[in-house]
Amino acid sequence: MNLVTQRTPASRALHTAIEEDLNIVAAGLLQDIALVQSNERSRFGYKRAAKIIAAAIDRSVRDLIEEGTLRDVPFLGASTERIVAELVRGGESPSVKKALAAYGKRSDIEKRRGFRRAYLSRHTMRRALDAPLGPSIVSTKQFRGDLQMHSTWSDGIESIAALAGAAEALGWSRIGITDHSYGLPIARGMSMEAAARQGIEIDGVNEAFAGRVRVYKGVEANILADGSLDLDEDERRVFEYVIASPHSLLRRDTDQTARMVNAVRQRGVAILGHPQGRMYNSRPGVAADWIAVFREAARHGVAIEIDGNWHRQDVDYELAALAMDADCFFALDSDAHSIAELAFTDYSIAHARVAGVPADRVVNCWEQKKFEDWLADRQGGPRTRRRHDVHKATKATKMS
Ligand SMILES: [Zn+2]
Repeated sequence: MNLVTQRTPASRALHTAIEEDLNIVAAGLLQDIALVQSNERSRFGYKRAAKIIAAAIDRSVRDLIEEGTLRDVPFLGASTERIVAELVRGGESPSVKKALAAYGKRSDIEKRRGFRRAYLSRHTMRRALDAPLGPSIVSTKQFRGDLQMHSTWSDGIESIAALAGAAEALGWSRIGITDHSYGLPIARGMSMEAAARQGIEIDGVNEAFAGRVRVYKGVEANILADGSLDLDEDERRVFEYVIASPHSLLRRDTDQTARMVNAVRQRGVAILGHPQGRMYNSRPGVAADWIAVFREAARHGVAIEIDGNWHRQDVDYELAALAMDADCFFALDSDAHSIAELAFTDYSIAHARVAGVPADRVVNCWEQKKFEDWLADRQGGPRTRRRHDVHKATKATKMS
């Protein structure tokens, strides 16, 4: 069935708004022109302007140009205004074009453009949250809480109690603390001994919050090159759930389908975290046959994460639509390292809405029993039949 024909008028209008999102186009032009600057200061200035237009302003640059108020926004100067005005009035920027032509190195510019696919600006994110898409589609109203965040136990800046308090203030009833595992020392990954002490702290926080917010004991484990994890099965069982995420080999062109398929097969994995590992304007992340990965995730009940960190937006609405078709569950997470970053869940929810994901596919929205049954099921790992098959296959290989 053609997805386009299934779209409601509200969904079609939202897709049009995304296609015509001048904020994200303007940010891209500013990134392009930043790339060709010879001095660090102007490069920094354009990049900062790009970031502000893409991720910090609520309103459309079209409105701001028409009102003449773009330069009221801090750090947006005359040259940024000229580029954005050219875009708004003529659909492109001759001054950026000219600068790029003088620079040459076309492939450099094209490569970077490839690292900016299917990102939402703050402006379109807000439109996606507000669009009248119908009651079954996931929204902030049904969202019970975020399942990926980092505390002072790894590279976050907040205590677990502070994160729980912030969640309560946001109207959430659950959060999952997912500090990095010891396999990622650069992000101050926790030793298993620290994880045990963290578990005791979480019990204390749960007692203090008396059911108003339930804090789950998660961990963000690393997917190794072969798709196995840096935590073994016994170590994974210490936590209530495991997010498996790629943090390495994120700049390769080579196909990594086998790695990602293997990762979702690992026992104890509940969520495939920021599946691509992409970064806005800087790296492409993992290349894989995502339909195959999503099908395998669906077979094992592993949720696909939409990581709302602005620079990640991973998976985006295009890949999320493929995961929908593959019957996947979704986890909509902020990947916050501070309280302010909990708001990144807005981007996760927005991408899910653009992809037409219903709330009943989103584990964050499930009522507590259903959510906890699902977690327990993930702890059980691959079904017995499958384990037996794998075992038989291994034996057969050995014999031959
Ligand atoms: Zn991560």
